[in-house]
Amino acid sequence: MSQSAPAETMTSRERVLAALRREPVDRTPLVNPTSIATVELMDLVDAPFPDANREPELMARLAATGRTELGFDSVMPVFSIIQESSALGCEIQWEQKDNWPTVRMSEPIYESPDDIRVPDDLLEHPDTRCVIDAIKLLKKQFGDEVAIIGKTMGPWSLGYHCFGVEPFLLMSLDDPERTKLCLDRMKEATIEFGRAQIEAGADALTLPDHATGDLVSGEYYREFLLDLHIEFVEALPAPLILHICGRTVDRMGYIAQSGMAAFHYDSKNGPDESMEAVDGRISLVGNINNPETLFSKGPQEVREEVVANLEAGVQMVGPECAIPLQTPIESLLAIGQTVTEWHQQNPGKSELN
Ligand SMILES: [Zn+2]
Repeated sequence: MSQSAPAETMTSRERVLAALRREPVDRTPLVNPTSIATVELMDLVDAPFPDANREPELMARLAATGRTELGFDSVMPVFSIIQESSALGCEIQWEQKDNWPTVRMSEPIYESPDDIRVPDDLLEHPDTRCVIDAIKLLKKQFGDEVAIIGKTMGPWSLGYHCFGVEPFLLMSLDDPERTKLCLDRMKEATIEFGRAQIEAGADALTLPDHATGDLVSGEYYREFLLDLHIEFVEALPAPLILHICGRTVDRMGYIAQSGMAAFHYDSKNGPDESMEAVDGRISLVGNINNPETLFSKGPQEVREEVVANLEAGVQMVGPECAIPLQTPIESLLAIGQTVTEWHQQNPGKSELN
């Protein structure tokens, strides 16, 4: 019998939303909770950084390539992690086409909880407005066909940007209560920006909160963030995808209790051990390695990692984090090709997830 592509019975949007609820899908969706923009894609549609981070039309145009060029089931226009930090008053180094914008860490804007003010016009700032308007444009372009994923940074990440990474981590050691007060004040920015994106048409939100494996322990996640993340699930009326880089198996059990729809997990964690740690309480999305596999190895190595995720029953497949801007398109295309081939060889598998 010849193998033809299995019939797709769901739209991309339906497929992603079902996978976020751990419901049956016609095939495993290709999802990018973080940026898959590359220099090659910027050139292709004439939407380069830094302008594609600051002008809604260019932001939407570059995000659309995730669908039109790479065949992903989602589009995600928030390529950077600094849009709301800019609106909070951080100095931004906007960089050029080949580099992400960053917060100028030499000039932190907060030193104490009393300094924290989420401005009334947070959503009127050009760098938050840009995201909201880009989501509206993507909704207009893709309607109900493709899942639109927005992104709002969690308060731990905002703490790094507004206090500086070192001062913030030192405060968490010296004075946990003061740190909790800071997180509680900064969370308003997370909620406001997230709500606005949902109203603009986002189907789901990535919520990066960089309590990363190499900086803080699993117990830190439980002490400082679990309750806040439960609060976000209540405050934001869309499925949330938590993103934390690094080795995180030690906190996945807690993360699975947050009520978030999915966890975007890093290649420092194996698919099998991660599925075991979350034990069906949260979907996983990931975890194709960026710096080595996607950036410098070839389609064959990409294939092996995709298959490992599919075999483990990971609900959504995609890169582990924002991909390097010089990643070759060929490597990205291998993700979708592998998913299609695997489902041809394993008919009916995804419905078992
Ligand atoms: Zn990351």
